[in-house]
This record gives sequence, C-alpha cells and structure tokens, in this order.
Amino acid sequence: MPRSELRTKTRKQKLSPEELSDTFLSHVYALPDGRKLDLCIQCGTCSGSCPTAYAMDYSPREIFAALRAGMLDRVLFSNTAWMCTSCYICTVRCPQQIKITDIMYELKRLGIKYGYTSPSTRSAAMARIFINITNRLGRNNESELMMRFYMAGRWGDAIKNAWRGAKMFFKGRLPMPISGREVAGLSEMRKIREVLERLEEQKAAEEVKH
Ligand code: SF4
Ligand code: SF4
Repeated sequence: MPRSELRTKTRKQKLSPEELSDTFLSHVYALPDGRKLDLCIQCGTCSGSCPTAYAMDYSPREIFAALRAGMLDRVLFSNTAWMCTSCYICTVRCPQQIKITDIMYELKRLGIKYGYTSPSTRSAAMARIFINITNRLGRNNESELMMRFYMAGRWGDAIKNAWRGAKMFFKGRLPMPISGREVAGLSEMRKIREVLERLEEQKAAEEVKH
C-alpha cells in the first residue's frame, strides 16, 4: 500500500503513527524482558529462521527497522503479524533474546484494538469474532465462529463452505451454531480478565513515564 494512502487511512483512525508507536512500545516494554527490544542489531536471524517470512509483507527483522523509523502503522497495515504461527523459532534463536513472538501478539492486539489491520488477510476478523464468542460463553463455538466469519465476508465463500459445515455438523463434529451454553464460573473469569487488563494498562502507563 502506498505511503500516502497509509497516512490518509491513519488520519481517519484515532491514533497518529507516532502515538501508535508510543502505545505499542509502552505495551512491549511492560512485557517481561520487553526492554530488550531496543537491543536489536538487525542481524536477520529471526527473518532467516521464520518458516512463514516468505508470506509476510515485512519480515520480523523489518518490524524492528520500521519501529525505529517511526513507521509502525506500515507494519500494522501489513499481513506480517497475522502470518506468524507462534512457532517461537525466532525467539529461541535471537542473539539478543528479544521476545519476538510476544511482540507479534502485541501487534495483533494493537491492530484489533485500534482498527489497524491488513486488507489482504481476514485473520483479524476471525480473531475479533473468536474474542466476542469466548467473552460471551467462556469458550469457543466453532459453528458460530465459521458462520459469522463467512457471512461477514464474501457470500460465495459462505455458500461454498456451507455443505462442508453441514456434513461435519450431522456427523457430530460441530456444536449447535448459536449456543447459549456458558462455562461454569464465567463471571469470575470475566472479573479475572478485567483485573489483568487493568494491570496491563497500568504497567504500560508506568512504562510511558520512564
Ligand atoms: S534475530 Fe534478534 S537481533 Fe537479530 S534482527 Fe531479529 S530481533 Fe534483531
Ligand atoms: S514465532 Fe512467528 S515470527 Fe517467529 S519464527 Fe515463528 S512464525 Fe516467524
């Protein structure tokens, strides 16, 4: 996507590219060993080891280069984080012990939270639906997930996959599509999540002050 287009899109959103970088950094710094992010020597070991780097718009190494250049918006509008399979090879091999996989998760979280996602992948849409269902029920419902995912996209895909879903459903491999069944202790789980989110925000706010 051309840089000019990115800037226009960013202006429509809530955060400027600079604010986006600051928010991202504060959250990464709040992670255990998060400050090691600053130690990247651009050796490229992560990109060379990554099994899905070939499919990424920007390789893991380029994420750190983009951060330094204040171009995090460019990374968020790319498919990079969504192509990460969380295999941890990059994290194990990084000579500076940077938690690259955790950083990929942070990119996904930030993209979903502020609406910066790649137009070339629908993984963020699936993640949003998954979060919505698990927040509501305390667990996933695969039938509902796939139905909502396909219905929010192209109808052709929905029709093409409907028969497959129906076959799995009648063989007992998928649950009832819209199930209201919640896990036991859901309200406690929600409270724990709220406390953790509050603590994370507090830690990130403290990192901004340092
Ligand atoms: S392996 Fe580590 S130090 Fe090397 S480019 Fe990747 S993140 Fe930077
Ligand atoms: S964790 Fe993600 S970025 Fe790291 S090597 Fe695996 S797929 Fe690539």
